[in-house]
Amino acid sequence: MRIILLGPPGAGKGTQALGICKQHEISHISTGDMMRAAVKAKSALGLKVSKILDSGELVPDEIVIQLIRERLAQADCKNGFLLDGFPRTAAQAKALDGVLNELGQKLTHVLQLMVPDQILLERIKKRGEAGSHRADDDVEVAAKRLKVYWEQTAPVADYYRQQNRLTEVDGLGSIEDVSTRLEKVLNP
Ligand code: AMP
Repeated sequence: MRIILLGPPGAGKGTQALGICKQHEISHISTGDMMRAAVKAKSALGLKVSKILDSGELVPDEIVIQLIRERLAQADCKNGFLLDGFPRTAAQAKALDGVLNELGQKLTHVLQLMVPDQILLERIKKRGEAGSHRADDDVEVAAKRLKVYWEQTAPVADYYRQQNRLTEVDGLGSIEDVSTRLEKVLNP
């Protein structure tokens, strides 16, 4: 299985990604995790992206595409993988097609968790109700991430939809509800 899991911030994408990878014994590839690890290790990459991560903006396409190109070439990906948090722009989606083409591989599933904007906004607002200064900062970054998602990442779903490669999955309900729906698509 070679899966992309798309979905807005706050949709529960990370949790579902881990569940699918465990169930199907495939590698979990999260560009966000990879970059947070780089920041923690204070590598050259980490120093370059640390401020961008804090702001909720996107890291430049060239950087993430190179990261994914190297990661997908690693041996464990031969058994399958799930991409979590990549692609985040239409340019990344196109580059991914190129990288997979070079590797002689094709995606098996492009899944999108669907959660109405209104609900995502309510979740962000709730986080702010704690009222501390830190919570205010969090809310601001979360709202920024949602805006970035609408502006830059929504076109990724359109890209796959236009090619009839996208499967939309209802992201409302409990973790179990959503994972049952995802499994139905992966194992019909
Ligand atoms: P995530 O954990 O996937 O929400 O990612 C955390 C942060 O890492 C994002 O807000 C971006 O700054 C950066 N990031 C992760 N994946 C990508 C990507 N594919 N393209 C650009 N920036 C990314």
